[in-house]
Amino acid sequence: MDAPNHPTITTKGVLRPTLVTVNLERLTQNYRAIQQHVGNSRVMPVLKANAYGHGLVEVARHMAGLGAPMLGVAFLEEGILLREHGIQMPILVMGGILGDQIPLFLEHDLGLAASSVEKLAQVDQAAEARGVRARVHLKIDTGMERIGVHYYSAEALFEASLACKHTDIEGVFSHFANADAADLSSARLQIERFEEALRFYERRSLPTPMRHMANSGAVLQLPESHYELVRPGILLYGVYPSNEVKRTIEVKPALRWTSRVVYFKVVKPGHPVSYGSTWESDHLVRMVTIPVGYGDGYFRAMSNRAEVLLGGKRYPVVGRICMDQFMVNIEWDSAYNGDEVVLVGESGDMRITVEDLANWADTIPYEILTNINTRVPRVYVRSGE
Ligand SMILES: *Cc1c(COP(=O)(O)O)cnc(C)c1O
Repeated sequence: MDAPNHPTITTKGVLRPTLVTVNLERLTQNYRAIQQHVGNSRVMPVLKANAYGHGLVEVARHMAGLGAPMLGVAFLEEGILLREHGIQMPILVMGGILGDQIPLFLEHDLGLAASSVEKLAQVDQAAEARGVRARVHLKIDTGMERIGVHYYSAEALFEASLACKHTDIEGVFSHFANADAADLSSARLQIERFEEALRFYERRSLPTPMRHMANSGAVLQLPESHYELVRPGILLYGVYPSNEVKRTIEVKPALRWTSRVVYFKVVKPGHPVSYGSTWESDHLVRMVTIPVGYGDGYFRAMSNRAEVLLGGKRYPVVGRICMDQFMVNIEWDSAYNGDEVVLVGESGDMRITVEDLANWADTIPYEILTNINTRVPRVYVRSGE
């Protein structure tokens, strides 16, 4: 049984000519660079949303091999998928939970985020009923206003956790709203609030559970937030979380997105291209068609803005991007059916980054990566080639 998110690696010959190629060696280098930077903190790779488009199961296996202590996902289903593919290491589901999901967390030995006193009590009861131990990380909201008990009410959650007899409190965590910004004042305020809440343990002379707070932005910019564990996502894949963030760690993109020319033609002036006829040439041009579209996650918003690499040069995407195809103006250069086209990645000394695509689509790199959908086969290589 292959779940929908499982990467396609399989046989040669039947793959689409459109591929995402994930360079596992780059993932290794990025992981090690982050580990080195955070010193004694441990690094929990965040693998939600199909490992930011890189393929959940393959990336999880690779991270397990690198000695990651724990994997982070957003949803229960992502955790179960990993278990079904034989991943046995600790997994933390960081998102909010529903009461009826609790038995599945316990059945699959998945760590969960307790973001209210009621949920925590429910978890403890469910663990007792099953005769197992629950693994819980207490979620404190220090300024994101998403999930978690507010820092000013955290004491009640900590108290409640002390009363849980069937639950291991494995961690206590919070999440930044602005750790990738140039102005870090609000992020620093969040750290203060987290520490203020954690003084509970000091006052009671109790050991503090493992603390974690740092996403990629904080890994790069806020060493005081690294604590015992950091939770980088996008940085691990070699992409910086924002343009403003200080690049204190050097990482390189692990993902390359390519396709191949499927059609060549000459287009006359006055003959507009694609839906809506939004583009036409005033002179004779050569044009190629690429079998990729917004149905793969190549956003329609990039129509008449995106560029691709072909034969070591950059060319513009012209006309509307369709669901499964788009057109590229190569002026009077040469191209042939089957030629490789780079949508994201390097070609010679040129490169197109997910940041470029994010600019063209008026979004952030995260959204570009996580929208390259499962219609695009993933292949895995160990080196740059
Ligand atoms: C997504 C997420 C992360 C990782 O964020 P990046 O910005 O990709 O590093 C860390 N922690 C939580 C709770 C998240 O939801």
